[in-house]
Amino acid sequence: MIAKILEGKLFAAQIKEEAKAGVEEIKSAFGITPSLAVVIVGENPASKVYVRNKHKTCEELGILSEVIELPETITKDELITEIDKLNLDKKINGILVQLPLPAAIKAHEEEILNRIDPLKDVDGFHPYNVGRLVTGSPTLVPCTPAGCIKMLDLAGIEIDGKRAVIIGRSNIVGKPMLHLLMSRHATVTVCHSHTKNLPEVTREADILVAAMGKPNFVTADMVKAGAVVVDVGINRIAPKKLVGDVDFESVKEIASAITPVPGGVGLLTVAMLMQNVIKAAKLQVH
Ligand code: NDP
Repeated sequence: MIAKILEGKLFAAQIKEEAKAGVEEIKSAFGITPSLAVVIVGENPASKVYVRNKHKTCEELGILSEVIELPETITKDELITEIDKLNLDKKINGILVQLPLPAAIKAHEEEILNRIDPLKDVDGFHPYNVGRLVTGSPTLVPCTPAGCIKMLDLAGIEIDGKRAVIIGRSNIVGKPMLHLLMSRHATVTVCHSHTKNLPEVTREADILVAAMGKPNFVTADMVKAGAVVVDVGINRIAPKKLVGDVDFESVKEIASAITPVPGGVGLLTVAMLMQNVIKAAKLQVH
């Protein structure tokens, strides 16, 4: 079997079209234009590229976007004061602090992120939103796992009743993915670095999600014939070469569908962020 390649750009375009319609709907129903504030601290070049990309996508969809550039030397308390200002600003619907934070304040990351008003937390990292996700209440969900689910839906891939295996248990990808798949009635196993006999577990998956950050780790012998393979990993193995956590060339021979890297789920994250800004704007008018 040769897998269907799940091209991120096709799904991202559909998600963005939906978001564009959402912006228009909010404008006409409530007379407001959804808005996002992205806070970037310091000069990390990769972060700057991500922030520019978010800003550009906002502009493309008619979402107002403000980039707040703060110096590397900012203290934790000064950064919290900036977040408080954005929390109180009625014109701002979504707030995102671009990670990683500089080394000097990295230890305070949790406190800083938790300061964001949960109704404006478009990354979905605040414990309030995490709690709502776990209890199955509608909420702002982390963009990358939400993008994976949206892609499966758009591709017409059934989740209900399927065996799903996730490799990785981070707060950003693995854990929210568990709750999203479970809420869609998959039977889910989460693997991590202490999992014994990993290939045995992954071979049970109808839907296999790799989110571990290990280049080309998942090989064909770890995949059941006909499985759907979602590769969240982004690993730079040379200055201009990105690969996923899945050995694409061998696994595409056995899976029924697979996401490539680059060009797979990575493209959905920003599109889902736009959806979260719209969701946040709606939460704030209700
Ligand atoms: P983390 O490093 O936070 O988590 C990695 C997880 O993988 C951990 O739970 C770890 O286990 C597990 N793991 C590591 N090695 C193994 C192994 N040999 N066997 C089984 N499990 C293992 O990573 P993230 O979740 O933040 O990111 C994962 C990948 O996804 C990265 O490549 C990252 O770049 C990418 N990513 C892509 C995004 C996008 O597309 N936009 C967004 C976010 C991430 P343990 O907990 O035991 O240490």
